[in-house]
Amino acid sequence: MDSSGKFPVVIAGAGFSGLALAAQLLERGDAVVLVGCAKNFGRGTAYGDAWREHLLNVPADRMGLRADAPAAFADWLDLQGDERRRFRPRLEFGDYLAHELDALAARHGNQLRCIEAGIATITRGADARWQVTLDSGETLQSDRLVLALGAANTASAATNDAIIRQPWARGALSNIGADAPVLILGTGLTMIDMVLALQSQGHRGAITAISRRGRLPLLHPEPPLPPTPPSPTLLAALEAGDLRAALREFRTLVREGAASATLADGLRPLIPQLWRGWSLQSRKRFLRHLRPWWDSVRHRVPREVFATLDRLREEGRLQIRAGHLIGHENGVARIRWRGDRDDAVVPAAAVIDATGLDGDRDRYAAHPALATLIVDGHLRIDALGLGLDCDGNGDIPGVDGLHLIGFLRRGECWESTAVPELRAQAAALAGRLAAY
Ligand SMILES: Cc1cc2nc3c(=O)[nH]c(=O)nc-3n(C[C@H](O)[C@H](O)[C@H](O)COP(=O)(O)OP(=O)(O)OC[C@H]3O[C@@H](n4cnc5c(N)ncnc54)[C@H](O)[C@@H]3O)c2cc1C
Repeated sequence: MDSSGKFPVVIAGAGFSGLALAAQLLERGDAVVLVGCAKNFGRGTAYGDAWREHLLNVPADRMGLRADAPAAFADWLDLQGDERRRFRPRLEFGDYLAHELDALAARHGNQLRCIEAGIATITRGADARWQVTLDSGETLQSDRLVLALGAANTASAATNDAIIRQPWARGALSNIGADAPVLILGTGLTMIDMVLALQSQGHRGAITAISRRGRLPLLHPEPPLPPTPPSPTLLAALEAGDLRAALREFRTLVREGAASATLADGLRPLIPQLWRGWSLQSRKRFLRHLRPWWDSVRHRVPREVFATLDRLREEGRLQIRAGHLIGHENGVARIRWRGDRDDAVVPAAAVIDATGLDGDRDRYAAHPALATLIVDGHLRIDALGLGLDCDGNGDIPGVDGLHLIGFLRRGECWESTAVPELRAQAAALAGRLAAY
């Protein structure tokens, strides 16, 4: 507690969101305790656990830590001209975040405490303060606690399952032999990252990637193009939750010459508000029918990444198809290709699950930092299992001093993933916390 009787804000999770929030709070004069796992402290999963080949999917001049200085990463690298709009390695962005953390510590040393530790449990004491117990045995207290836990993924690479379900865990791919045939479930950005990671470790075997529709992410337009604002018809259909009409209009606009990518960019800032206006039924319909398509137009890849995929496909080492896995045994996968009646047999010494975490809502209740808060009724998993219930600010209605930032807010606003939206959340939350 400081001389004014205030406890520091405790931020649980030290990835991009935790760091962005810490920066905002420190600059407003608040004291902060930033707690996160040692293995990727200050960088998080995306920029701490990447391979050297993995590129950002947002241009350098939009990746700054603070909402009021979006070009700060490009400035830090001293990029000039077109280079500022290029897609830099994710590990390099991790270095930028580490530099920003060091700079914060140098500027606000007395106000910032960084703790590299796992959070073992969080409870609320009889005095209504949050008690954050670390695996070191220490307990932190605060009346302002922010959960910045990313996707709240706890699992490690160790698994008895033949399927690699945690592809981001350190060493997850290390047992895959250089010539082993690999099956990847999912055809989005994580699949592409896994193909690049395999190439990086010298893999020469065949790779098959499958998903319901076999749809790949779009390419980023080059040169970059400004967002296209949605037409009044498209906006009206989305506001009414009429997704079928919205998709029809989107396709009409594309036929008339608009680019899917720039239309998606024009829609993206409007999504949280549209999502909040949709019924649960509309949200479910979006997830069931439109999500694969939206993901492919919204989460795009740089051209140079695609060049590697194209080369592997030309060499016959990579096939990407629509289908689903029926079973996997003794190094062989049985797959039903979309439109076929019979199963096909595909050699697969290893299977990598690159479909994301959305099917696994149980992980919230199993996460050490969330389990007790859920059991004690302070937090509730949202109706679609995308994150945790909260209001449009990431606050928990009826629960003082407990706030969410990032991925955990997806049930409330859907788009709560990328740097531009996370740093805006951090700035807004810091403003509200300062007023406590
Ligand atoms: C592979 C990948 C690539 C991406 N690329 C981009 C990109 O190019 N551009 C972009 O804008 N966005 C990208 N994203 C989105 C990305 O999620 C965000 O940019 C951002 O990194 C999320 O940060 P976060 O702090 O919210 O979550 P995380 O980075 O996941 O941080 C959460 C932190 O909490 C810690 N934690 C969890 N449980 C505990 C516990 N019990 N105790 C202590 N600590 C705990 C974790 O170790 C982690 O460090 C990417 C995401 C992924 C997964």
